[in-house]
Amino acid sequence: MIFRENVPLSGLNTFKTGGSAKFFCIVGTVDELKNAVCFVTENKLPFFVLGGGSNALFSDRVFEGLVIKMEMMGRGAVEKENGTIHLSAAAGESWDKLVSLAVGNNFYGIENLSGIPGTVGGAAVQNIGAYGAEAGDSIIEVEILDVSDMKVKTLNVKERLFSYRDSIFKKLEGKNYIVTRVLFRLKKEGELNMKYKDIREYFENKNFGEITLKDLRSAVLEIRSKKFPNLNKFGTAGSFFKNPTVNKNFYESLREKYPQIPTYPVGGENFRISLAWILDNICGLKGFKKGAVGLYENQPLVLTNFGGASANDIKNLADEIARTVKEKIGIEIDPEVVCV
Ligand SMILES: Cc1cc2nc3c(=O)[nH]c(=O)nc-3n(C[C@H](O)[C@H](O)[C@H](O)COP(=O)(O)OP(=O)(O)OC[C@H]3O[C@@H](n4cnc5c(N)ncnc54)[C@H](O)[C@@H]3O)c2cc1C
Repeated sequence: MIFRENVPLSGLNTFKTGGSAKFFCIVGTVDELKNAVCFVTENKLPFFVLGGGSNALFSDRVFEGLVIKMEMMGRGAVEKENGTIHLSAAAGESWDKLVSLAVGNNFYGIENLSGIPGTVGGAAVQNIGAYGAEAGDSIIEVEILDVSDMKVKTLNVKERLFSYRDSIFKKLEGKNYIVTRVLFRLKKEGELNMKYKDIREYFENKNFGEITLKDLRSAVLEIRSKKFPNLNKFGTAGSFFKNPTVNKNFYESLREKYPQIPTYPVGGENFRISLAWILDNICGLKGFKKGAVGLYENQPLVLTNFGGASANDIKNLADEIARTVKEKIGIEIDPEVVCV
């Protein structure tokens, strides 16, 4: 395995920004991953595990450590009892190719997550979600390398690995874990998840007969193509911020002031509120641009590098947005994107 030095990172993330990595390597197996971890331990360096770079904002400076690019590959499906399918994929596999494989085989469960860039490992770490589904809904096990004792372990979903756009892997308890493989439970016969308004409207407008899994994937891909900028032209990491969660009292006062604000209950008397709506309707930031970076017209949460923006430009705009939201309605918002 080769450890390269001073590798530019701008070609390795979808914001297309960032400085360089002092050290960089690509790992294709667990043994190579172990070698990479030994390298950082021996040299007392920090490390960063990179999947597809579709949810990471690298600073413009040098990352003074090792960037480990995950390219572990391999997928396999096994049929279990009652039409259950166990689909396993290595962390470096493309997320959307996995969804395509599942849909192509008529396995139900992850079709609403079609078209999300990145790797299978990244999808588990970020607990990706879209159109009423989350990766964590279908994951039953995650295989990890625990860098504290260099053992490969299997974490069961009963260990409460996931929450909204979050997982144990982003918290202190999971800081020593590198995801190497993910196991999904899918179904041979299932029901389409049509809870999300955009999806229902898509089919209502098209006068469809019986809707198949493939139709649903096509619908999601078409809807998404209008919401996100074209990655061949622009830089983005999808939604920069999470939708904030507020308690009942706050929710009620907000509702009184802004009766149209989209909200939904998330249990425990808490409510999630649409940040996109807040940015457009309360903060007046629709289509706001500062230099080469701005909020995407069709989806304000999507900060976009329209060409030539630095990581600093993006971070500054994100900070300004967070300040504005705090000033206007008193809510602290959290980034979904990992800032490195
Ligand atoms: C156009 C666009 C649309 C998007 N739409 C959505 C969407 O609808 N819903 C959504 O939830 N997200 C969305 N995203 C965000 C992004 O695609 C997901 O978060 C994705 O899962 C990130 O995967 P990645 O492999 O690119 O991770 P990276 O960006 O490489 O890494 C993200 C984080 O995960 C960690 N990580 C990655 N792999 C591993 C591993 N194997 N082990 C341990 N840690 C690891 C990294 O260290 C980092 O902290 C979108 C992004 C873009 C650019």
